[in-house]
Amino acid sequence: MKRKVIIIGSGPAGLTAAIYSARANLSPLVFEGIQPGGQLTITTDVENYPGFPDGVMGPDMMDKFRKQAQRFGAECLFQTVEKVDMSKKPFLVWANGEKYESESIIISTGASAKLLGLDAEKELMGNGVSACATCDGFFYKDKKVVVVGGGDSAMEEATFLTKFASEVIIIHRRDEFRASKIMVERALKNPKISIKYNSIVKNIIGTKDSGVESIEIEDIKSKTTSIFKCDGIFMAIGHIPNTKIFNNSLSLDENGYIKTMPDSTHTNIAGVFACGDVQDSIYKQAVTAAGSGCMAALDAEKWLENQ
Ligand code: NAP
Repeated sequence: MKRKVIIIGSGPAGLTAAIYSARANLSPLVFEGIQPGGQLTITTDVENYPGFPDGVMGPDMMDKFRKQAQRFGAECLFQTVEKVDMSKKPFLVWANGEKYESESIIISTGASAKLLGLDAEKELMGNGVSACATCDGFFYKDKKVVVVGGGDSAMEEATFLTKFASEVIIIHRRDEFRASKIMVERALKNPKISIKYNSIVKNIIGTKDSGVESIEIEDIKSKTTSIFKCDGIFMAIGHIPNTKIFNNSLSLDENGYIKTMPDSTHTNIAGVFACGDVQDSIYKQAVTAAGSGCMAALDAEKWLENQ
């Protein structure tokens, strides 16, 4: 069966696009991907989404988004898209070995955590190295952990980790934080958090069995290196937009985010729309992602009507 709309990705952008396109009787099919609900499912309290004065847990919020979309007839598959052919119409999407056809596609594949690129980082991922404090913080009860980064994520992860860890050290490559003032203040006020400025992680020492034992840090001002004992290291250095499956068929900006036409979600391919973090390198908020998901559904609806 040829679909009118296939939505790839299930964060606030994808599921809002699903709500709107379902309510427009377009019976959207949503491929939820490897992280159903998107990045908010690996966060704890969401305090800045309007309508939740007491905050809401990220996973609970995304369950609500999904239920709302399903109520209007969106079909959500917990499958990951393997390949997409957008060179001719109908567009083709492959997932779980099956081929799907669609008149339009809404891309909301989001972004993934950036890593430092150290060999040991990959090797010890899940054994002392993590990119998600919410997922792994629990394993560091009364331990000493490091958080790398100087943005809001680093502040948030460090603050969150103090619920478990005995000591949290933020390692930042500059002497000034990129994070918002309120987040920095919250972290600095926490007695369990300390900061190492002008420092970069050169290596992570440990084994799969022992976990992380220490890290090698370079002070970039004095050019000296030192070994720092810790039990875990959390990467919080930003994200990379998830565009690999589109295999260079879409126009991307210099940082790899999908380019959309001004004031719209149209990509360079007619009938393909992009919303959320995969096309937003500036705001990256749940509420802005949801807003752009709504835009994508309305753009797709209008475009389909004109075909
Ligand atoms: P970000 O703002 O891009 O910050 C990334 C941080 O990591 C920067 O401090 C950067 O250093 C550092 N970094 C990047 N690559 C590095 C490398 N290879 N080695 C060492 N350090 C590196 O990313 P983010 O913190 O993930 O935040 C992304 C967006 O989400 C922001 O708009 C943020 O406001 C938002 N956010 C909001 C909340 C909240 O409101 N609750 C929570 C999390 C995130 P430099 O500063 O030197 O570039």
